[in-house]
Amino acid sequence: MKYYLEKRNYPKLMSIVIPCYNEESVLPHLRERITLFLKSLPTKSEVILVNDGSHDNTIFELVDWSKEDKRIKILSLSRNFGHQIAVTAGMDHAAGDAIVIMDADLQDPPEVIFEMLEKYREGYDVVYGQRITRSGESWFKKVTAWAFYRLMKILVHKDLPLDSGDFRLISRRCLDALNGLRENHRFLRGMNAWIGFPQTPVFYKRDARVAGETKYPLQKMLKLAMNAAVSFSPLPLRFSLGLGIVVALVGFAVGVYALFRAFQHFILQMPIVYNPGWATIVTLICLIGGSILISIGILGEYIARIFEESKNRPLYVVEFVKGDLPKFKKSR
Ligand code: UDP
Ligand code: MG
Repeated sequence: MKYYLEKRNYPKLMSIVIPCYNEESVLPHLRERITLFLKSLPTKSEVILVNDGSHDNTIFELVDWSKEDKRIKILSLSRNFGHQIAVTAGMDHAAGDAIVIMDADLQDPPEVIFEMLEKYREGYDVVYGQRITRSGESWFKKVTAWAFYRLMKILVHKDLPLDSGDFRLISRRCLDALNGLRENHRFLRGMNAWIGFPQTPVFYKRDARVAGETKYPLQKMLKLAMNAAVSFSPLPLRFSLGLGIVVALVGFAVGVYALFRAFQHFILQMPIVYNPGWATIVTLICLIGGSILISIGILGEYIARIFEESKNRPLYVVEFVKGDLPKFKKSR
């Protein structure tokens, strides 16, 4: 689709949303870099730091920082809700005409935001950071990330940009639309692609983490991938139907063959070795049993999601707020 881009000014207020989970070793670096960065930012700004139930001294570091700088606001969640929800909480409470989401660990260089702002002025509503290189990450992470983005493009949305994380600038009108999507299992990038609006990349080099270690171990990555696949597409359900058809066809062919052998043996009285068919039966049982279990498992994933949604719970619970953050009106 082609968009007509209307030029606009810098946002009057810019919100930077940063989720923090056990980032005490990172925060001094972040504080220094952000303070420097804000000096050269051509707009008014606020920084919303979301404490996602950290177990270390993150919250004390944050409170300390917010005392010295009025632009620093804290949203502390009552426990660890996970990265996607922490970002959602920050987005709900942002007052800016444009917001930027970034990691606390400085893997996404704040300086890229200048470029994002220029694209915003050209009229784009979403400017996402697309990585050209990733340093300081294991080959395993790189390979899984590479495969992940390609698979998700097929499953989630054809407009899902490749090799881009949550580091992005979002305009107010797009943010309002995004904040209206209150599903429990969130894959923000996919939701952002679903919203539409003019979107464009800026290319950047993803740095290594300044300190600490990743809060996205394999288990969390798999969960995110599962959310992305199952929450966005009925394709996995269709996969189980496809699998069922294939298994049924194989079963039918084996059945025809077995009948043919029996016909040769009993009716034609041919001197063939008629084995009792133990191997065939076992193979078939495994094949059919396995595919039924796979299909039930996939069904279960969807039913679990219906269950979660039907509870109608809020996505997160705020423990306390520091700084004048607007109240988020929707309870969900
Ligand atoms: N994070 C969070 N809650 C979590 C896990 C991570 O708020 O349960 C934050 C974390 O502090 C960081 C960002 O989300 O600012 C991304 O996490 P991380 O850098 O560990 O992920 P990676 O860049 O390794 O994929
Ligand atoms: Mg990171």
